[in-house]
Amino acid sequence: MAVNKRFDAVVVGSGAGGAAAAWRLCEKGLHVLLLEAGPRFDPTRDYTLSQPDWERHRFPEPPGSQGKISIAPLDRLDPADADLRSWNRVVGTLVREETRQAMGPGYHHVQGVGGSTLHFVGESHRMHPDAMKLRSQHGVGCDWPIDYADLEPYYALCENLVGVAGPPDQGARWRSTSFPLPAHPLSPPAQRLVAAGRPLGMHWQPNSRAALSAAYDGRPACNYCGNCNRGCPIGDKGSADVTFIRKGLGSGRLTLKPASPVVRIRATASGRIDTLDYLEGKTIRRIETPILVLAAGAVQSPRLLLNSHGRHYRKGLANGSGQVGRNFMETLSWNSTGLVPGLAQSHVGLQSDAICWDFNAPDAIPGLIGGCRFNSSTQEIGFTGPIAYALRAISGFGKQLKDGVRASFGSALSVGAIAEFLPNEETFVELDPQKKDRLGIPLPRLHSHLSRQEIERLKFMASQSRRLLKEAGATELVEEFGAWDHFSATHVFGTCRMGNDSLASVVDPHCRSHEHSNLYITDASVFPSSGGGESPSLTIHALAVRAADAIASGTVLPPSRRGV
Ligand SMILES: Cc1cc2nc3c(=O)[nH]c(=O)nc-3n(C[C@H](O)[C@H](O)[C@H](O)COP(=O)(O)OP(=O)(O)OC[C@H]3O[C@@H](n4cnc5c(N)ncnc54)[C@H](O)[C@@H]3O)c2cc1C
Ligand code: SF4
Repeated sequence: MAVNKRFDAVVVGSGAGGAAAAWRLCEKGLHVLLLEAGPRFDPTRDYTLSQPDWERHRFPEPPGSQGKISIAPLDRLDPADADLRSWNRVVGTLVREETRQAMGPGYHHVQGVGGSTLHFVGESHRMHPDAMKLRSQHGVGCDWPIDYADLEPYYALCENLVGVAGPPDQGARWRSTSFPLPAHPLSPPAQRLVAAGRPLGMHWQPNSRAALSAAYDGRPACNYCGNCNRGCPIGDKGSADVTFIRKGLGSGRLTLKPASPVVRIRATASGRIDTLDYLEGKTIRRIETPILVLAAGAVQSPRLLLNSHGRHYRKGLANGSGQVGRNFMETLSWNSTGLVPGLAQSHVGLQSDAICWDFNAPDAIPGLIGGCRFNSSTQEIGFTGPIAYALRAISGFGKQLKDGVRASFGSALSVGAIAEFLPNEETFVELDPQKKDRLGIPLPRLHSHLSRQEIERLKFMASQSRRLLKEAGATELVEEFGAWDHFSATHVFGTCRMGNDSLASVVDPHCRSHEHSNLYITDASVFPSSGGGESPSLTIHALAVRAADAIASGTVLPPSRRGV
């Protein structure tokens, strides 16, 4: 097979981590090929909100935009914890089985140029510094081999590139510079949560958001349509396609190939990654990889490494430690919604515009290790139109239903919470022993187990959410759902853990494989811990740009491209 040799580096995957690494490498003068499995989306065509049934459309899923996965049987549900059941007023109990069930695909993601950031809400968070030191400070989980201070300049750089709007102060998350844009004004439901939190001693503040509070870098200001996770039609949300990839293409050094899934990575006996194979149309092409940056996400990156086993690497690439696929961490989330008589316009405004970090530090929840955060979630979970009220919050038929929806529309108030998920032995990603994709490659098989600590954290999140909604004036709850009976992950981490010890981790503190000196991994798979509910994309960007700097500092370029 002919081998193409044109590029200084090849990046696999164009999501939060791949896009940021590709941009930085181009900025440093390297010629980069970015291979993306999924299609390119067009915001004006694909994210329309003008059709009468707009509310029933979620993020679009054109052919090739979803990776297939399989999910191993999930935990039996202990009736003693049934207070955590998912339910709503119209349907009743949402999981009737005796075991935990996958909600939709289980792992919510997008294959496409921009990856899962196309679908994301756009929360833009730095890690709590102490959440990176769980083992040394609290005796659980795993320490990061780097500190918050190592990431801080990269956080600032990425916030500037993306255009993050945030408040002046975020407590433990100290900053060397202010956010590039001021925080967004709070929506009506967020204002109600802020007020309700005060008597309970909860401190809420504007959330830091990858959504523009003013026009920035050629992109328009947010119009507060509230549909960020349906895809932003005007391009102010800081998804990777309109930020890092746009900038990378502008450099003239980035070659982007959508619909080009990588199927195999090859390494020499001496450990060098020399080529990879990808699919273009119906043809498998081979390309040389002087540097390979793998950023296919915490589910697909381990799959690709494990499936690229061969004579010299029987357990898969980068897997001498046996840690590829291990330490998978999922999204431990909870959401409660109530109707608040007198509250109006709760469908209006930016998704997740307010946040409470009070319980985010690893020791902030009484009696538990591993924190959580609370956020305003009315728009995020879809109480933005009448259909959601009719299907989830108001029972009855005909005139009774119509009158009920009219009377209550705009009064739904939701609070969401996400928490630390500590790695455990029973939660991991492997190659499915039976199921394969159309190319004959085994699907990634996800195993998930909630330990007692996770369930107790969920109980805290549920009880605090209920207290808050009561204080906000909710006369009744209409819907609750969470991770106890649903496997429904939007933030996934681990599977190629970062560390100093090559026997216990996959990559070093600069995201470089312990075994293959020209292989870097720059997606959420390198996280040693999940954090106490922080949304991960900003940290993924920061890690990826930091890794790209390490690559560039060790790459000798021809004189014409030095010093760019
Ligand atoms: C509904 C939703 C809401 C979210 N909200 C937020 C939020 O508010 N804030 C936040 O920070 N995070 C949020 N997230 C999470 C965030 O989107 C992800 O954590 C982040 O995008 C992960 O980045 P990544 O680089 O690890 O992987 P991804 O962004 O998933 O990118 C991986 C890319 O690799 C590609 N790929 C996979 N396999 C191959 C292959 N074999 N060959 C070539 N390409 C391949 C994929 O197609 C994809 O484009 C949300 C996610 C979802 C689904
Ligand atoms: S609320 Fe703002 S960021 Fe979200 S989709 Fe609408 S315009 Fe885009």
